[in-house]
Amino acid sequence: MSRLVVVDHPLVKHKLTIMRDKTTGPKEFRELLKEITLLLAYEATRRVPVYRKEVETPLAKAEGYYFEDNKIVIVPILRAGLGMADGILELLPNASVGHIGIYRDPKTLEAIEYYAKLPVLDDDTVIFVTDPMLATGVSAIKAIDIIKNSGGKDITLISLIAAPEGVRALQDAHTDVDIYTAALDSHLNDHGYIIPGLGDAGDRLYRTK
Ligand code: URA
Repeated sequence: MSRLVVVDHPLVKHKLTIMRDKTTGPKEFRELLKEITLLLAYEATRRVPVYRKEVETPLAKAEGYYFEDNKIVIVPILRAGLGMADGILELLPNASVGHIGIYRDPKTLEAIEYYAKLPVLDDDTVIFVTDPMLATGVSAIKAIDIIKNSGGKDITLISLIAAPEGVRALQDAHTDVDIYTAALDSHLNDHGYIIPGLGDAGDRLYRTK
C-alpha cells in the first residue's frame, strides 16, 4: 500500500513558509527548493539498502556501511521538477538522472508525454520522481506509467506540496508508490492550483511570469 509521508521537520516548515511568501524572489526560491528537497530525500532514502564494509580508522578496524548511489535514478518531471533534482544530487552525487516532459492537453485535460529519456532501469534500481506540486496527480501518474513501462519497479515520488486530490489519484493509480512531501494543503482551485500552495512553481523558479 502506498504511504504518504509528510516531513514536518521544523527546518522544512520554516523554509517552506519562506517559499510560499509571494515576495520571495527566484534566487531564494530556487535555493530553498533545493534545500528542502535535500531534507525530504534524507527521509525518503531511509530504506535504501546498505551493505557492510570494513574500514581502518587511524586507530583500529571499524565496521561501516555504504550504499550504491549509482543504482539510484532521479527523474524530474519537467520543468519544475528540475529544481528538485539538484537537491538530491547533492546527497547522491553518483545517481543517474532521467527526464520526463509532460503537458496537459487544455481540451481533454489528458497528460501528454512530449519528452522522455531514462537510463536503464533494473529490478533493483531505486527511483525518485520529483515534482514540486502534486496537484491533480495527472502528471505524476503519467510519469510513473512511463517509468514502469521502461522497467522501473521501486519508485518514490518526492513533492514539495501535495493536494488531497492528487494524493488520492496517485495512490489509486499506483498503490506501490510512496509519496514524500513537505506539506499536505487544503484543496485545488478551479484551475487546478493548490490552495494555499505557493502559486506556479515553474514560473517562480524560472521567472516566466
Ligand atoms: N502546479 C503548480 O506549479 N502550482 C500548483 O498549485 C499546481 C500545479
